[in-house]
Amino acid sequence: MIHSLSLTLSPEQALDEPTFRVIALEHVRLTNTAEPIVRKRRQSIDARGRQVRVHVDAEVIVGETPPPVLEFRKEYPDVSRAPQAIVVGAGPAGLFAALRLIELGIKPIVLERGSDVRTRRRDLAAINKDHIVNPESNYCFGEGGAGTYSDGKLYTRSTKRGNVRRILEILVAHGATDQILVDAHPHIGTNKLPYVVADLRQSILDAGGEVRFDTKVTGLIVEQDEMKGVITANGDEITGLGVILATGHSARDIFYLLRDNNIAIEAKSFAMGVRIEHQQALIDQLQYHRPNRGEYLPAASYSLVTQTRHNGVERGVFSFCMCPGGFIVPSATAPGELVVNGMSPSRRDSRFANSGLVVAITEADLKPYRQHGPLAGLVMQQDLEQRACRLAGLNQTAPAQRIADFVNGRVSPNLLPTSYQPGLASVDMADVLPDHIAQPLRQGLREFGKKMRGYLSNEGQIIGAESRTSSPVRIPRQSDTCEHVQVRRLFPCGEGAGYAGGIVSAAMDGERCAEQLVNLYHSHSL
Ligand code: FAD
Repeated sequence: MIHSLSLTLSPEQALDEPTFRVIALEHVRLTNTAEPIVRKRRQSIDARGRQVRVHVDAEVIVGETPPPVLEFRKEYPDVSRAPQAIVVGAGPAGLFAALRLIELGIKPIVLERGSDVRTRRRDLAAINKDHIVNPESNYCFGEGGAGTYSDGKLYTRSTKRGNVRRILEILVAHGATDQILVDAHPHIGTNKLPYVVADLRQSILDAGGEVRFDTKVTGLIVEQDEMKGVITANGDEITGLGVILATGHSARDIFYLLRDNNIAIEAKSFAMGVRIEHQQALIDQLQYHRPNRGEYLPAASYSLVTQTRHNGVERGVFSFCMCPGGFIVPSATAPGELVVNGMSPSRRDSRFANSGLVVAITEADLKPYRQHGPLAGLVMQQDLEQRACRLAGLNQTAPAQRIADFVNGRVSPNLLPTSYQPGLASVDMADVLPDHIAQPLRQGLREFGKKMRGYLSNEGQIIGAESRTSSPVRIPRQSDTCEHVQVRRLFPCGEGAGYAGGIVSAAMDGERCAEQLVNLYHSHSL
């Protein structure tokens, strides 16, 4: 028999598993014997009121085999002799596209410019310790893509676009904790993600697919508006049924390659700003309304958004990719650029809380870059990153300013301790950020200071530049077949193409592109 229950409890009752078990059994009038299985199905923490409450949906199973946690089974057919398709990029979009191709009987050839997850670690250490940015292997490029050394947040607002549960189940089948199927805001953590990514790769290899690292695509084979294949940096020509182009938002050379081949690309709206860092203990106090979060509650997060008006223009200012108990990391993909982003370990136990704090870029802001056509946003983004680098010392030292000092237009005489390993330089951030970002950011911070008292003070600092929130370019495709609007057999995919924003939505888009490629193949259109 299965009893379903839905309870709202204190953190101590809900998050201490033995205590929760007793409460759940009492609720269905059973005693705490070893036999019944108590399984949580959904758990969300609600910190909106004065008291933190935890909502738990669970089931108590008595006297029968419990249904499996996973519907997805890790069983892939042998595709070693099947027709092949090319996947460019081994980020979440590319890896999930490859696995879906396998499920549908096609052999994927995955081409990745960066290194495998293990080798990549060495390149990340070089950025953090020696300020050396390898343009092929860094926080954005390499196996697993931009999300590998991240917080591994797995929630997405784009539930309409695909089956989120399926993506989470595939991650669990490849080594992620099954807690991600329960938490309302699941995350994996940067210490665990590389193992999951390596296991996804192993599934591709075991099924007879190929994954080639250190293999950068530098040319396209297009004949009469049909994509035949790609050319790699070492001159290899690789052909296939189609090309799933999942190169991410930082592959600027790919956008130039498309433009130079007269393949349509478009400018797309995006946002830029800074990363903001506080002590995690402060964010815990503000969000949980208690002196400290105690033994059971996780490091608190926040999500902030407001509308601002500057020079008659309205713009959104919002927090983005908040990393509780995390670290700020140097995410540039070329020397001479300064880009920051955030990551957290699975326990989210660093003493810092960081988040992107970004401002929407409007069409009018791009006017000075008009001559770059669809690449206007990309050039503007690069300008900001290069200025940030120049002003902070021409290495990976990041420009920073205490929050209240920034709002009041005062250079900080000194800075706070930080999680950002390459170090900070005190700079007037208004010199780094264009006015159309700096002014709305100031207004936004004043608003956020009212919503979360203590958020705006000199006990936190802003660090720049947070410029790679999403792609400034879209690669347009047909809404039904996912094929490029002009070039057949080309499937623009994932975040770089403008169809995803995060690990889960990129993975879902990868699956969708793979399905469409196989559909076209079976309908004899490929
Ligand atoms: P990417 O992950 O960018 O993958 C593209 C891949 O293509 C890369 O591996 C790249 O090396 C490869 N490539 C590029 N050009 C070429 C070429 N010419 N030839 C061959 N290969 C090429 N999202 C979340 O949902 N949760 C988070 O917690 C989170 N944290 C993040 C933390 C950091 C530090 C960063 C940088 C990003 C984070 N993101 C997070 C964003 C997330 O990583 C991206 O949304 C996601 O990875 C996009 O997936 P993708 O497959 O479309 O592209």
